Amino acid sequence: LETTNTKTMIIMAAFILYAITFSLLGSGKTMVYLEWVLVLIGILLMKDILGNMVFLIMMIPIVKIISNKLNSIENIMMSLSVFIFSNLMGINLVISILIAASFFLFLVVLNINFMKMGIIEKENNNLRKENLDLIYETSKKNNQVDIISKLFYRKKRLEEIKKLREIIEEIVETSNQLYNSEYSILYQFKNGQYVKVLVKGDYEGEDLPEMFSADKGKNTSLTKKQMIIPIEYEKKAWGLLVINGKKTQLTEDGRKADIDFESSDLEIIYLYLESALARLKEVKLTEQLTEAAFYDRLTSVPNRAYLEKDLLNEKIEEMRETKKPFGVFIIDIDSFKSFNDTFGHVVGDEVLQSFAKVASETLTDKKDIFGRWGGEEFLAYLTGTPQEIHRKAEMIRENIQNFNFSHRQITVSGGIAFFGKDGRTLKEVVENADKALYYSKEAGKNKVTFYHMINK
Ligand code: GH3
Ligand code: MG
Ligand code: MG
Repeated sequence: LETTNTKTMIIMAAFILYAITFSLLGSGKTMVYLEWVLVLIGILLMKDILGNMVFLIMMIPIVKIISNKLNSIENIMMSLSVFIFSNLMGINLVISILIAASFFLFLVVLNINFMKMGIIEKENNNLRKENLDLIYETSKKNNQVDIISKLFYRKKRLEEIKKLREIIEEIVETSNQLYNSEYSILYQFKNGQYVKVLVKGDYEGEDLPEMFSADKGKNTSLTKKQMIIPIEYEKKAWGLLVINGKKTQLTEDGRKADIDFESSDLEIIYLYLESALARLKEVKLTEQLTEAAFYDRLTSVPNRAYLEKDLLNEKIEEMRETKKPFGVFIIDIDSFKSFNDTFGHVVGDEVLQSFAKVASETLTDKKDIFGRWGGEEFLAYLTGTPQEIHRKAEMIRENIQNFNFSHRQITVSGGIAFFGKDGRTLKEVVENADKALYYSKEAGKNKVTFYHMINK
């Protein structure tokens, strides 16, 4: 009984000592385990039934503690077990109570420490989260500044734009750049529907249709993930801009993070669109003026002024490079006066339009130019060898002959002279082409004649 009591005292002392040491030094998890293992080794060294029993019982809280789940009821249960076993082993009641109590104390201290560690960890997590929130907020602020400076830059870029298509590209590009958006899509209002015309960014084409009905463009829509902006031009539906997924650069590590669209984002894109549409108006106006100055109103092909100046200069430049003369082909509609007299001027105008369309479409080579010379006379600059030029001219004549005009079959006659070879100025060449044309008419119309064939 003496030795048992001594051992009991040692065990008790070990628990108490441990509890004290723990409460003084114990902090890190590793330290807890290390200390505990030392105590266990001490107990095991006693190599008797009591020591082993206590060890076994203690294995349960170890497992529990490692998994960090020991609660107060379990503490009491464990201590009660220690008490029962001590008592069963013949240790007297008071000492058993003391062993159990010290064990309980030990568990409580252990738990408090784990709890503390838990709290610290939680606090750490909170801090980390707060820190992240701060980074996020800062980058959001930076992002707003960023967007505004980009807005100025993008507005400036508009001034450079000369073509309508470029404005469309610029709007989509800008909406994509301003918000680092996943993608931007521009729909254009055509025939009562919004039709997709341009996409910028990572778009798989799954979640948005190729077309939207007209009522989609009635209201602006703003969600965290998407902005849908109807665009009006001169009080009429013009387009629909869809901007999807706003991202910001996290200042800390260069990562991009998703952020939500806000009403200020809408204001910014509207500011931009206002400038873009103003530019659109200017570009349209310039295009209309250019159109009026260079193109024939009835047939929409280049007019005489354009043929005589810019287009001629282009051809002369080209001729200098290739050292090959180009053909000047004068085309005149056969017996058009009687056509007008029979069917009226309005129908005559329609014939002129159809004729210009057929002839333009016949000339597929971009280097060939076709325009209206005046009245029912047209002129083409044809590129290629004399054979090729002859083939092109014949094709126009044939296609007109075969075209199904609504009132009567139409034929044309033509004359060709070479620039450089048959004259040194356009005036000279056209005069000679006219002579060839006159020959075609004399020879029965619906013919094409080369000037050098009649001038032998
Ligand atoms: P030919 O086969 O010899 O060329 O006979 P033609 O009747 O065509 O004679 P000409 O070329 O002299 O007649 C030109 C006619 O084209 C006169 C005019 O009524 C008609 N014309 C010229 N410009 C226009 C136009 O803008 N619209 C319409 N409808 N007719 C035009
Ligand atoms: Mg004529
Ligand atoms: Mg004629």
